[in-house]
Order: sequence, then structure tokens, then C-alpha cells
Amino acid sequence: MKRGDLLTLTLEEFAFEGKSISRVEGLVVFVTGAVPGDIVRVELTRIKKSFCEGRALEILTPSLLRENPVCRYFGTCGGCRWQNVRYEAQLAFKRRHVIDALERIGGVGGVEVNETIGSARTTLYRNKMEFSFGERWRSAAELAEGSGTGDRAEDFALGLHVAGRYDRVLDIHECWLQSELSVRIVNAVREYATGHGLPVYSPHTQAGYLRNLAIRQSANTGEVMVNLVTREDRPEIMSALTGELLQRFPSITTVCNNITDRLAQVALGDREVVYHGPGFISEWIGARTYRISANSFFQTNTLQAERLYDEARRMARLTPGEIVYDLYSGTGTIALHIADDVRTVVGVEQVSAAVEDARRNAAMNGVENCSFITGDIREVLTARREMLRAHGAPGVVIIDPPRAGMHGDVVRAVLALDPRRIVYISCNPATQARDIALLTPRYRIEEVQPVDMFPHTFHIENIVALAR
Ligand code: SAH
Repeated sequence: MKRGDLLTLTLEEFAFEGKSISRVEGLVVFVTGAVPGDIVRVELTRIKKSFCEGRALEILTPSLLRENPVCRYFGTCGGCRWQNVRYEAQLAFKRRHVIDALERIGGVGGVEVNETIGSARTTLYRNKMEFSFGERWRSAAELAEGSGTGDRAEDFALGLHVAGRYDRVLDIHECWLQSELSVRIVNAVREYATGHGLPVYSPHTQAGYLRNLAIRQSANTGEVMVNLVTREDRPEIMSALTGELLQRFPSITTVCNNITDRLAQVALGDREVVYHGPGFISEWIGARTYRISANSFFQTNTLQAERLYDEARRMARLTPGEIVYDLYSGTGTIALHIADDVRTVVGVEQVSAAVEDARRNAAMNGVENCSFITGDIREVLTARREMLRAHGAPGVVIIDPPRAGMHGDVVRAVLALDPRRIVYISCNPATQARDIALLTPRYRIEEVQPVDMFPHTFHIENIVALAR
């Protein structure tokens, strides 16, 4: 076989990142642009010793797992990559992915893994969206035709990034991730910006004004925040835009402007000016209320976050006398969610703004048995004796690290804490399995529960309960 060869293949199962697998004479072929069950015409794009890659040119017989995508931008937009697969099949694949990681990376075979808990909402489930301003991306064909050049409105895009392309913004007039209101705000901001000739920030020249439009919308209180991220402080523009938005959308409760001239393409400001409302929205998860400002971290699928935390609490099997350590505690949501069931919770988190939020969230909810330590978990736990003296030995440790998982020293420190139970929540089954391999000599996997926070994406959140 060689590059450019055309083959007819039946796809057998999902691999990773939405690729599907087929086999030719015992060799694995990873195919993009198809789903398991499809019979496709494939062009080979890469030949390696142990596997090949190819892309589907034509679907000869479509799979029963297929579903019609709801969004007109599906296939180009980087927001949703899996709208063409039935939701039950997505959930089954996500569970399979967890099992594979535990077996291949964690070296733990034969573990029972529960069915993935699906999200009650599979569209309009996000409480936060970050749209980008960019120069409108034109296809090679359009450029050859010479269409659209010179016209300012044509050179303007507000939307999401093209799949896999951080330098290309797709102009979006429809999106199924947040709400209808959110899309209407996007369209209104675009209209205003093009109507007033506001220039888009260019990462190449570092000139221009508009960078991001972030919208936060509480699932439980309905409060809405519009945050415009710009390169410069231009109060006259912001005031006029705020007036226009409030007139068109009276349900907006906060408008703010984050200003940054940093190169990094993150919707984070160095300075914030609030043009309307309190500068934050409130949201509920379970019995607790949270104050979320433009730069706070908060789980993006509110309803499913409650499911996730409920499952973590159930799997922790807490007792009223329990001392719990909540490692990677962020803004304290897990600590506060379980506080009523235990004696004390000690959160550890390195971002001091998040720790301040956590303390304020605790105070606002009248929770008095949670405390939060600011610091790198590796250092905090290395000085373990101090922590044990100040807070007592934990019966349960809950861990919720970022994608990279735990540092080896942190795993060793957790082992030295010797808790009765460990509940490990992760958004990356691969690093979770790697870390669990280091824990399983002493701990037994008791339950594995995948929870889907992000329908139509390849992401999966997974909870593992371990008992000593
Ligand atoms: N448990 C929280 C947040 C989880 S996100 C929730 O459910 O909302 C992971 C958190 O780990 C982030 O807040 C990040 O700032 C923090 N973090 C990452 N590396 C860390 C480290 N080495 N020490 C302490 N905190 C860390």
C-alpha cells in the first residue's frame, strides 16, 4: 500500500479524536470523516509500519449510528465535532475510551465501568461561550474569484475557530451551544461593530480593537453577562455599545470590558471596567449559590456539573465525622457541595484569585467548615506534617486535577496521607489511568463512572473511586 491509494473500507469502531478504525490485511487504518458502520471510499494519506491513515472521500453506505447534524456550520466549526453521531453512540464510545485507557495505560483489566451518564441537554447546554473576532477567512476558491476584498464588513468575522485552526475565525450566525439569546447578542454585536467600523485586533500587527466576546448565562437564575475583550480602553465605544445592547436585550444583567494588549489569545483582561450591573452573575449548583465574574473559573455545563458533583459525593461514601482534602479545589465548588455531609473540608488550589472566590463562596453560603490553602499541591503536600497538624488526617481525598493529571510527587504524597478512600475526577482518562496505576498497588478500584459534560465533543469526564 502507498499514499494516494484508494480503498473501500467498512469502519469498525471509534479510535480517538473522532477517527474511526478499519483493518486491511491485519493493518489498522485510522480514517477521518467517517463513523463506525459506514462503508466508505478512503484515500490513504499516511503509511507507517504499524498503521495507516486515510480520509473518507465518499460514503457508500451510511452507518446506522449516523444522525443529521443540527448546525449549518457542522464539519467546519471547531465547536462541535460529533453532531453526526447519535448521542447514545457518543456515550458508548466515551465509556469505551475510559475502559481502553484503564486497560492500556493503567494496566488494570477487567474493571467494571458504569454506563456514561448523559447530559439531559445535548444542545444549548453551556453557560459560557467565548467568541472571537477575526479577519474573515476566505477559501482559496473565493480568493481566486477575487470576491469580498476591500469591503470592511466582508473582512470581519465574529464566531468560533475553524476546526484545528487557531488563526481562522468562522463568522457564525447560528450556534447550538449556549442559547438563542446568546446568538442574537453575537449577531447584534457584529452588526454594531461593522456598522461603526470598529477594527478587529490582529495578532500579526497587534493593531485593532476587538478581540473576544464572552457571554455567560446562568442556567438557574437566567442572569446574563456580556464581556467584550478589547486591546484598548475606549469608554465612548463601550458606553454606546452597552446602551444599544441593553435596549435590544433587557435581560442582560451585566456588561463589562476586559482590556488586554497581551499577545496570548485568551479572553482574559489585565483590567476590567464594568459598564452595567454588578459585574458578575449568580448561579446555583445544588444547594449553593455562586458568584461568577468575567474571569472566574466555573464548570460550563451547570446542570451536568450538579450530576458530576452528586456522583463524586455518592462515590466518596462520606461519614459525618470525616475530614476531606479537596485537591485542585478551584473556586471551591466540590468542597461546598459536600460540606454538609462531613466534619471539615480542606481545599488546596494554586490560583489565588480562585481561592479568594472559594472563600467568598463559602461565606456567602454560610458554610463554616471549609478552609482553603493557596499553593502548589506538590509543595503543600510535601510539607505534609504541617498540613496534618493544622487540619487533621483525611479519611477521604478528592482529586480533580487539570488535563496533565498529577505530578508523581503528588501521587506519592497522597499515598503517604493514607486516606481510607480516594475519589479521582478527571477530564483526561489517559493521565488519570497513568496516575491510578501508581495508586492501585495500595488501593482497589471500586467504581468507575464516566459523566458526559460536553455532548458532541470528544471530551469525557470520569470519576474513579478507590478504596484502601
Ligand atoms: N475542582 C474544581 C476545579 C478543577 S480545575 C471544580 O470542580 O470546579 C483544576 C484546578 O487545579 C484549577 O483551578 C487549577 O488552577 C488548579 N491547579 C492546577 N495545578 C495545580 C497545582 N500544581 N497545585 C494546585 N492547584 C493546581
